[in-house]
Parts: sequence; C-alpha cells; structure tokens
Amino acid sequence: MQIAIIGAGIAGLTAAYDLTRAGHQVTVYEAAAQAGGLASGFRDTRWDWPLERFYHHIFTTDQAIIDLTRAIGFEHALFFPRPLTAQWWGERGYALTGSRPAVTLPGRGRVELPVPDLVAGGLSVLGYPGLPFVDRVRLNLVLAYLKLAVRDWRPLEQETAARWARRWGGETLYREFFQPLLEGKFGPYAEQVNMSWLWARFKTRSVRLGYYVGGFQALSDHLMAAVQKLGATVLLQTPIQALTPLPDGRWQVAAPIAPETGARDFDAVIVTGSPGLLSKLAPQLPPSYLGQLKELRSLGAVVMTIALKQPLTGGLYWVNLPKTQFPFLALVEHTNFIPREHYGGDHLVYCGDYLDPSHEYFRLSQDELLQRFLPALQRVNPRFEPSWVRDVWLHREPYAQPIVPVNHSRHIPPLTTPLPGLFWASMSQVYPWDRGTNFAVEIGQRVAREVLQSDLARSTLTERGYAVAGRGPEDPR
Ligand SMILES: Cc1cc2nc3c(=O)[nH]c(=O)nc-3n(C[C@H](O)[C@H](O)[C@H](O)COP(=O)(O)OP(=O)(O)OC[C@H]3O[C@@H](n4cnc5c(N)ncnc54)[C@H](O)[C@@H]3O)c2cc1C
Repeated sequence: MQIAIIGAGIAGLTAAYDLTRAGHQVTVYEAAAQAGGLASGFRDTRWDWPLERFYHHIFTTDQAIIDLTRAIGFEHALFFPRPLTAQWWGERGYALTGSRPAVTLPGRGRVELPVPDLVAGGLSVLGYPGLPFVDRVRLNLVLAYLKLAVRDWRPLEQETAARWARRWGGETLYREFFQPLLEGKFGPYAEQVNMSWLWARFKTRSVRLGYYVGGFQALSDHLMAAVQKLGATVLLQTPIQALTPLPDGRWQVAAPIAPETGARDFDAVIVTGSPGLLSKLAPQLPPSYLGQLKELRSLGAVVMTIALKQPLTGGLYWVNLPKTQFPFLALVEHTNFIPREHYGGDHLVYCGDYLDPSHEYFRLSQDELLQRFLPALQRVNPRFEPSWVRDVWLHREPYAQPIVPVNHSRHIPPLTTPLPGLFWASMSQVYPWDRGTNFAVEIGQRVAREVLQSDLARSTLTERGYAVAGRGPEDPR
C-alpha cells in the first residue's frame, strides 16, 4: 500500500516505522522544520545538545518507548537519573520524590539508605510540613492503595477525581494536595477530570526519570533516520491543508507550499495531531464522528525557557507551584536533571503552565511575560537578580493536554474513521494514561496495526496480486 502520514511527531514516526517494516510505501508529511512534534527541541549556539521546547522526561515504566529505542539500535542512549521533584510550601520547595533517607557514618560521610522507592517517597511525604501529620499518613495510604491495590481503571472513570479524593482523603488532603495537582494540570476543568486519570498518573510514574543522550530531538532524529533507512520518505516543512477522497477510494494529499512534492494519491492516510486538524483536513467525515471530535476538550501549553548564569532552586529538578501564589504552575530546572556541561554551562529553567488557548499568555509578548515571571524567580531564590538572565525563549502550543471527563472511554473516537482509508491517532485517544511520548509510541503502533488489519489492506493487496496473511508484521520488540 501507499500510505501517507500527516505529522512526524513520535506517533507518526512510530506508525511509519511499523508500516515500512511491514513492506508498505510510506510518506510522512511534517509542517515543522524538524521531526519530534511536541517533543522536539531548539538549539543555542553555545549548546552541544538541543533542549526540548517543552520539558520532557520518561519513566522507567515507559516500556513501549524503551523497546522502540532498542529496536532502532539506540537503547544505550537512554539513561535514568534520580532528580528531586518537590512541592512548594511556605517559602520553599520540599522534595517529595527522588530523595532517599540518609545517615552520616564516621569516615564515610552521608550515606543514603537503600530503601525501596515507595518507602523513600512515603518517608518524604511524612516529613512534608504542608499537611497535618494525620493527613500525611492518609496520603501515604491512599497513594499505596492506588499504586498497589487498584488494577482495573474502569470503575474509577465513573466518578470525578475530585469526588473520589475528597471521599478517601478528606477535605484537607484534597485541598492541599490533590486540588492543586488537578487545577495545575486542568485549570477550570479540574473538577471534571475522572479518577482513572489520577490513578494512572500515580500507577506508572517512577522515581527515576529517563532522558536520551542529545535530548528528545536526537531520539526523534534517530527514529526518523531509521524510518528513512527502511525506505520511507519524510518531507519536513510540508504542511498539509486538505485531504481529498478520490472516486476510486484512494486519497489525494496535496502539499500546496511544496510544489516540487506535488499532489499524490494514497491508499491510506493517517492523521496525527489535534481533533481540530482532523476536522479541517477531512470535513467529509460523517456528522456523528465530527460531533465526537468537537466534544473533545484540551488545554494548550505556554512554556518559557530561561538561561541563567547562576543556579536557581538549590538542586531541585521540578517544583510544583501553587497557582494562587505564582504566575505559572511548574518550575523546572532542567540542569538539575541533565548536567549543564551539555548546555555551555547555562543553568536552564523552564516556567510552564497549561492554559486555555484564549488565555492572555498566548497573546502577550515574550518580554511582557518575562516581566510577569521574574518576580516568581526572585521568590524562589531571594538572591536572584534579573542580571542572571542570559537568554530567554518562549514556546506556545494550543493543543497540549487533553481533558478526560467522567466515562471518557465511551466518547473516544475510533482510530479507524468511518471514511475508508482514513485513520486518526492523537493524544486525545490516549487513555487512561496521561499522554506522553511512551503513549505516542503505543498509539502509533496501534494505528499501524489497524491499517494492516483493515479491509482496505486486504482488498488493496489482493487486487495487486499479493497473498494476504491477515495479520501485522512480527513485532520485533
Ligand atoms: C508542556 C509539555 C510537557 C510534556 N512533557 C512530557 C514529558 O515529560 N514526557 C513525555 O513523555 N511527554 C511529555 N509531553 C507529551 C508529549 O510531548 C506528547 O504526548 C507526544 O510528543 C505527542 O506525540 P504525537 O506524535 O502524538 O503528537 P505531536 O507531537 O503533536 O505530533 C503531531 C505532528 O503533526 C504535525 N502537524 C500538525 N499539523 C500538520 C499539517 N497540517 N501538516 C503536516 N504536519 C502537521 C506537527 O507539527 C507535529 O509534528 C509533554 C507535552 C507538553 C506540551
């Protein structure tokens, strides 16, 4: 089959990898100048490694992406440090994960105790002053229950996370711990998010966090190179504006601003990207499916990266900030995770938030936003001075975080659309797990399987004289 994939993010490239391995001819169209989508990076002339536009790490439990790096011969590029992640309370950040209890031994200095992560995390929570002691114990029990005892997410999706957390944690624990977490991620939609999302978030997250040598841009580039080596074509800077169904059941894909690539016909098209993109590219979809797309809600992301001449947080990688007191949600000091030697000695700090695309942060200039954010840096570190700022970059993305209301599983549009030969694989269909690069790999693999198992694959191949085995490629992983 001739297959077009719209988008060279992790999902599109993974689908391209599986489909070329199964012997099909794949062309990937990407609007941006580089592969990687939301996980792509940018560069400063001083740096050896590009940096993600939006902070990124993976977890030790992210098996699909770990396996994919192995399949393309780059598993050795993954490494898993143990950075400190913290919650802001009073006037400082308290490490809740990453730290281990330690003792000082004569002649050996400070020695970390080799306790399991769950216990270490639990002990950190017990020392967190932002909650009464009884609620710290209760938090430990609730988290242990979610992590160890709950296996099936389905019953949980029937109620909101807010209601569940209030019932099992009590009002104080909800207000001081769960509510900031939900509001930080979902803003005005916090009370609508279902409990399976919160369960999934605690279930799989590890204390060690993974990164790739050269960043997620290098991972995307290696994946793109693997796909090209298998025979696929990847066209960067080639935005697709319309898909046209042809009378013979095929699809025409036209790339207006790249006339050299011209319009081409394909047996199947996979669109990755937002529900809005799919509705725009294929308005011929039946009203019921278009209606489902319209019902899907999401938030955008605004992330400012600041290169500083001095360290900011005193060793913390990630600090969750209370939205009521700070102009953004997450303060991420990347160089407390990945050594600053890779970035010309810069201390790199992200200030990030998830917001509705109508929020003023999507309109303010970089300088206007910086002026709003600088006082927060001073609050985090009273010695901070604006003269520490060496450079600033601002990245905004209107489609960044899907919102998952009660019984969301019943409302997810299928990857195989009602139009023959048209498929959709996006973050909005990742569930109950929180979207991420690991799940972009999984959904890329799923959509490739659906293409291979579709009637279309059978009819196209038998028409052209091939025997059809009726199954996808052997999974190498
Ligand atoms: C602030 C933030 C922090 C994150 N942190 C993490 C993290 O720590 N760990 C993690 O694993 N994940 C993280 N993620 C999520 C992760 O980046 C995404 O889940 C994943 O990259 C999605 O991949 P995708 O291929 O599904 O979509 P995308 O990456 O969005 O890819 C879609 C591609 O389609 C292209 N495209 C769009 N329109 C067109 C068109 N008309 N023609 C051609 N091409 C088009 C886009 O340019 C893009 O490259 C984060 C995301 C954000 C926003």
